[in-house]
Amino acid sequence: MAKKSPGQTLADSLFISKKNIWEGIDSKTEKEVEEFSRLYKKILDQGKTEREFSAASVELLKKAGFKEIAKAGTLKAGDRVYEHVRGKALLCVVLGKKPLTEGINILGAHIDSPRLDLKPHPLYEDNDFALLDTHYYGGIKKYQWTTIPLAMHGVFIDPQGKEVRVSIGEEEDDPVFTITDLLIHMAQDQMQKKGAEVVEGEDLDVLAGSRPYNDEKVKDKVKLLFLSILNERYGLDESSFTSAEIEFVPAFKARDIGLDRSMIGGYGHDDRSCAYPALRALLDLAGKEAPQKTALCYLSDKEEIGSYGNTGAASWGFENFVAALSGEGALRTCLSNSVMLSADVAAAVEPSYAGVFDKRNSAFMGKGLVLTKYTGSGGKRAASDANAEFCARVQALLSKAKVPWQSGTLGKVDKGGGGTIAHYAARYGIEVLDCGVPVLSMHSPFEVISKIDLYAAYQGYGVFLKGI
Ligand code: MN
Ligand code: MN
Repeated sequence: MAKKSPGQTLADSLFISKKNIWEGIDSKTEKEVEEFSRLYKKILDQGKTEREFSAASVELLKKAGFKEIAKAGTLKAGDRVYEHVRGKALLCVVLGKKPLTEGINILGAHIDSPRLDLKPHPLYEDNDFALLDTHYYGGIKKYQWTTIPLAMHGVFIDPQGKEVRVSIGEEEDDPVFTITDLLIHMAQDQMQKKGAEVVEGEDLDVLAGSRPYNDEKVKDKVKLLFLSILNERYGLDESSFTSAEIEFVPAFKARDIGLDRSMIGGYGHDDRSCAYPALRALLDLAGKEAPQKTALCYLSDKEEIGSYGNTGAASWGFENFVAALSGEGALRTCLSNSVMLSADVAAAVEPSYAGVFDKRNSAFMGKGLVLTKYTGSGGKRAASDANAEFCARVQALLSKAKVPWQSGTLGKVDKGGGGTIAHYAARYGIEVLDCGVPVLSMHSPFEVISKIDLYAAYQGYGVFLKGI
């Protein structure tokens, strides 16, 4: 090889290298990436709502010897406990050797994703169709949710409090649902509308049936047939919807993308591509010598609608859990000495829309875990903006462990923005930094990530829980 010029040697030592991390990957790591991706795709298909994802996670926890905190009694180093918060959020912990007043290493992700929720009175008949009226959940481009197969997930609670779980559209021979769109031949007016109005929120009505109940005398025959099937199968009636939580999500499964199978397309990468690696990083500590500091994984709900509600990060659920570990007296010291990675996805540069990204400060797919110092919008408004000291500490930790990472912000200044659960943790004085997987087509029914970034997240989260 030709000898490097002095300038090249200097450049190599002073410039940041933003390498595609697939380059030079060894076959052992390649196998691990593939196996991790396989398990991730499996839980993504299993857990399309926060209830389903947290239930699947609880199964993994139980297998690894985690016990419900309410039944666990006095805790000591190495013990592992969890709380399934109202069946929708999850807090799990491995107790460390050091006292809790020295703080906890926390990974905080969210497990809710944008989707279409049914209204309390959703069912109506129009032009011999049974239709279900929805209210979308989270920020979506509404037109993206038409003309795709949708599955119906959720729970009905009967007057006795008994839960009826529903999942229709996931099995090969299940029927699916869809939202129709106007044919292009007659869409001249529609095509002139702004993107936000092409399909309006009130028009996101799910096509659910078209066959009438066989009785001349009765009204709303198609609606009646739909309800009669629901009644036969689940014992439900029209009033069951008024208390239910029924969600429509894409009916397709997560799939490999590209001839090289380097990427995964699927519903809900935001934020399960961070939630799953975070959970796995915690599971890895189970059954081994207790970590120095207590390690905690928080899978929260409601992030996509602002984290409000008693299963969201703005509630006291997290604090109550920590108080149960530390006792009220030590709670404040424990929290203010804690550190957290707010494990949430980042926007990857979209090749066709590169103009809205500041390329020097954006995240790229295939370049590792993204550290986002601040989110917010319009002058960093509502951002937590991590401290330089903590950013440097996390960066050094990842670099030392050879975890590929990059730094990224969300788009050009004044072109948009967003938020995560970071600022809810920051309220306690917790050192917190956003840190997650770069995603293409975020908040669409079929988001895209790179397998190698997913694996980098798992590695990075593991290092953080053990090491910081
Ligand atoms: Mn998110
Ligand atoms: Mn989101």
